[in-house]
Amino acid sequence: MEDFLSKLCVHTFTTKPWPLETAVEKFAAAGVKGITVWRNALEGRDIFASGELIRSAGLQIVSLCRGGFFPSVSPQKRQAAIDDNRRAIDEAAALGAPLVVLVCGADPGQPLEVSRSQIRSGIEKVLPHAEANNIRLAIEPLHPMYAGDRSAVNTLAQANNMAEAIGSPLVGVAVDVYHLWWDPALESEIERCGKNNHLFAFHVCDWNIPTTDLLLDRGLMGEGCIPLKKIRSWVEKTGFTGFNEVEIFSTKFWAQDQDAFLQKIIHAYKNFT
Ligand code: ZN
Repeated sequence: MEDFLSKLCVHTFTTKPWPLETAVEKFAAAGVKGITVWRNALEGRDIFASGELIRSAGLQIVSLCRGGFFPSVSPQKRQAAIDDNRRAIDEAAALGAPLVVLVCGADPGQPLEVSRSQIRSGIEKVLPHAEANNIRLAIEPLHPMYAGDRSAVNTLAQANNMAEAIGSPLVGVAVDVYHLWWDPALESEIERCGKNNHLFAFHVCDWNIPTTDLLLDRGLMGEGCIPLKKIRSWVEKTGFTGFNEVEIFSTKFWAQDQDAFLQKIIHAYKNFT
């Protein structure tokens, strides 16, 4: 298969209508080289066998999505989140995924700084379990429009601050262009991740104009206003050699034929990423 696909990874959530087995077969046939597995795709399955299936198709397992959601006003819910993150680490280990991506969470019932301190504390509590399984954890900052209830970590600077404060080689950041493209400090903060060797993942899609849904209207690369090639060049300048992970949540694309959508992804990846 052509070399231009050698860094292409697709998230299972991108082709949500396909069950895991179909996604694996179709991705491999199309020349995709990596897969990031969402936990919902593993429901009802033997996770170890799912990992074997993916590897036998020739796909590299890039990460497991997702852990996180640490903050809560309720101590019971904070503990439940820690337990769930330990399970996510177990699932990553069984699957053979080296990385768990963290959507950190926020609770609208408390200030953002309290949520951020609970995120840090949550990561520190699950870190020994990650170390025991040799699983890396990536803090993924989310766009500020999600600060109310999905993530109190909204800029790459905040994610870098937290990763540096925790100070473990297993804790780094995930850069998702959808969440971070607008940030005037993005280039320098990407450079900072590189210096700390904690740039663990790079997610791509595009920002539609107008955006019609805050969650499920992500664009295909090249459809929107994100300077993808520029951001990719900043990421690669740090020495990052990982995958470009296509992560598109889109009710529009999910309603279409997924084979045709996968071909559009490959075309867009080649021309616009
Ligand atoms: Zn992402």
